[in-house]
Parts: sequence; structure tokens; C-alpha cells
Amino acid sequence: MMPCDNGAPLQENAHAVNGIAPENLALAQRDLAHVWHPCTQMKDHESLPLVPIRRGYGVWLEDFAGRRYLDAISSWWVNLFGHANPRINAAVQAQLERLEHVIFAGFTHEPAIELAESLVRVAPPGLTRCFFADNGSAAVEVAVKMSFHYWRNVGRTAKRRFVTLSNSYHGETLGALAVGNVELYKAIYRPLLMDVITVPSPDCYEREPGESWAEHSRRKFEQMEQTLARHADEIAAVIVEPLVQCAGNMRMYDPVYLKLLREACDRYEVHLIADEIAVGFGRTGTLFACEQAAIRPDFLCLSKGLTGGYLPLSVVMTTEPVYAAFYDEYTKLNAFLHSHSYTGNPLACAAACATLQIFRDEDVLGRNARLARYMGERARELEALPHVAEVRQRGMIVAIEMARDARRREPYPWQERRGLHVYRCGLERGVLLRPIGNVVYFMPPYVISEEEIDLMVGVAREGIERATCD
Ligand code: PMP
Repeated sequence: MMPCDNGAPLQENAHAVNGIAPENLALAQRDLAHVWHPCTQMKDHESLPLVPIRRGYGVWLEDFAGRRYLDAISSWWVNLFGHANPRINAAVQAQLERLEHVIFAGFTHEPAIELAESLVRVAPPGLTRCFFADNGSAAVEVAVKMSFHYWRNVGRTAKRRFVTLSNSYHGETLGALAVGNVELYKAIYRPLLMDVITVPSPDCYEREPGESWAEHSRRKFEQMEQTLARHADEIAAVIVEPLVQCAGNMRMYDPVYLKLLREACDRYEVHLIADEIAVGFGRTGTLFACEQAAIRPDFLCLSKGLTGGYLPLSVVMTTEPVYAAFYDEYTKLNAFLHSHSYTGNPLACAAACATLQIFRDEDVLGRNARLARYMGERARELEALPHVAEVRQRGMIVAIEMARDARRREPYPWQERRGLHVYRCGLERGVLLRPIGNVVYFMPPYVISEEEIDLMVGVAREGIERATCD
């Protein structure tokens, strides 16, 4: 086991990434002079190296000193088929020669049309209408506004509230933040946010000893049922991340919850919004997570992997009845006017079409099933570590929960930033791991090999050992 690294100031050294290699230094300094990075306390960069990347290929990112990092988190869960994928590159390049962008109101283009047709073919049956936006949060805003607006258009004006699960995350614009529930992102802005109804998550980390995932998820549904029974008249929609609450520490639950939720939403006349922005496109083992419960949501939000991780694009898919409720004479003012300048950008749509073509041409899900099995087997070896409380998996997502007392599942205080030690260890050893709190996870591009999985798990082991050695 390596000696404990408790976040002491880093030493600069051309080879150790614990400092910044000279080749990276100039760019890092220029960056820090003007750039304000997301999800970052910028002061951390006084001791934490900022890593300028000059190129990417497959699962690898390469910095200006020629050091490689295995992208174990698919660059925030967007990349599916590797960096610089030849097929997606070619599609974007070809599109670039034809049309880079065009206004998407009154005008249209082939990549958007082809993409909508392809999505309708693969999405749960009945989702036949595609509304494009340009990032995940925007898709959530669209779904929330569309649901609210639908009920108004059909005369049910009291239905204007939203139900969400505890520990859920749906993005960080104000509407998306309001329907999410991760305190770290939400607490400060609460005075600005609409009021939502929050129901306990079916998160199976919290199951009783001896209780199965399905039993726990089913039991947790009782509170959702009661909420819907009590408030159905004022509820527009329930929003969930199917199967995995990714930003909420990669907590997972059983598909039975989604099945029960769909039935209840039908019974109580409430929309179901499935936010598959993170879990869509094969991450959970099926193309869409909803398939594992054999359900169709009223709104399906997609982004991230939609373009293979190339360009910002999102889409909300919905049904004919929803579309019909907005289809009217202009003067009735029932149209859905939401718009973004880059809606349906042709380059992004071309990347998305190429991504879906790869799913059609190759047995991606079959190959992923084998990779997931191997990744799970290797990751479960970490269960033997004294401060690992759980290793959980859903398809190509594996999470390892570190805990002060693993048996009693007593967490490390967040202030100790245990995950940061794992991150530092990863940078040193050439693997981009970016734990969420006490949870180390793998969500790699689907082009990862078994040897690369070995490296990824080995470095995670070392990082966890270092992070938990006191
Ligand atoms: N929903 C979920 C489930 C997400 O994981 C994310 C992004 N992590 C979003 C919404 C927001 O997407 P974006 O970052 O593109 O705004």
C-alpha cells in the first residue's frame, strides 16, 4: 500500500503528475488566468494540477507532456465509442463541408430528419415526436415546460407541480435544479427555485439486511403511491432517472419501481418524465434503461451519448397525444415556443446519426454485456477492501462505495474529500477517475479492452487503499 497522501501541496516534477509537467505548465497558467471551470472550486488548482489535453484516441486522453490518461468516466459520461472515432469523425467532417448550421424554425435539414426517424425506430414504441435542444439541462426544462403546458392546453390548469426522488439530479439550470435533489448543487439556490414534491428514492444501498433490490424498491414505492393518491389533481409529472441516480453517488434501484410508477402514473393521470440523459444509449445494458421495466415514459430526455460524446445536443421524445394538445390555430396561443439558437445543430445531428449507425451495424450491446461481466468480476474483488461498503453494477456502470465503517455503512464525512485522493492517484497512474464524494465509479467508453479494464480497476484499488489508509 502506498503511504497516505492527504492532499498536501504538490511537488512539481517533470514525470510525476502530482506536479505539472513543464510542457503542460504554460497552458495551465494561461488557462487559470482567465478560464472559470465548471464544478470546480478554482482555489483547488493551487495544489491540484490542471491537465491540458492535446489529443484523444479510443479510451485515451493525452496531455502536452505525452502522458496518457484512460478516460474511465467517458468525459462526464458522454463518450460511447472512443475519442476520435473514425466513423463519427468522418460523418462530422462530411457534414461540415455541406452545412454547419441553420435556423431550425421554418427551416430544416437532413441530419435532423434522419436522426428523428432513427430515434423513433429505437425508442420505446409510441414516442414518435422529437423536440431538439442543445444540452441535458435544456432537455429537462423542455420536458417540464411541455408537461405543464400540456395540462394547461387540455384545461387541467391545476396540474402544475412536479414530483421528484430524493438524491436525484436533472441538471443545473433553475428549472432542472428545482426538480433535482442533490443538496450540494441545490441548497444555495433554493430561494430561486419552484417548489416540488420530493419522495424518498428507492436507492438500494439503503436496503435492509437480507432484503432484495426488488423488495426494497417495491417497498419504497409505497410513498410514491401515497403522494400520487393525495396530490394527483395538482401534479403534472413525476421525473426520474431510470435505474441509476448517477450524479447522486451512482445509487441504483430495481426496474420494478419503474413498472409500478408507470402503472400509477396511468391510474392517476400524471406524466412520467424519464431522464435518460446519463443512462441512455446502452449504459445500463439495454439501449434505454426504461426497456428493463418494459415501460414507455411520456417524455424521454436524451443527451450526452446521443452524439457519441462529440457535440452538445439533446432531444425530448414524446407521444402523439402530447403533440396533438399543442397543434392548433396560431391565435389560440397553444404552441410550444421554447427555442434555443443552436437547436438541432446539423453537425451535432450528423454525429448522432453516425452514433446510431454504429449501434445498427455492430452488436454493441452484446459486446458490452461481455465487457460488463468482466468489469464487474474485476471490480467485485475490491469488496474485500476494509473500507469498501458495496460494489454495485448496472450494465456498463460500476460503483464502489467507500465508507468509514463499511459493515455499518457509516460514511466518511464529506469534508475529508476521500474521493480526491483517488482522483490524484488516478492522475499519477494514468487513469481519469473522478469519484463523486465517497463513490469511485467506472463508466468507460464501450471500446475499452480487458487489459484496460485491468489497469482501471488496479489503479482504483490503489487509489482506494491510499484514500482509506488512516
Ligand atoms: N440529467 C442527468 C441525469 C444528468 O446526469 C445530467 C448531466 N450530468 C443532466 C441531466 C444535465 O445535462 P447537461 O450537463 O448536459 O446540462
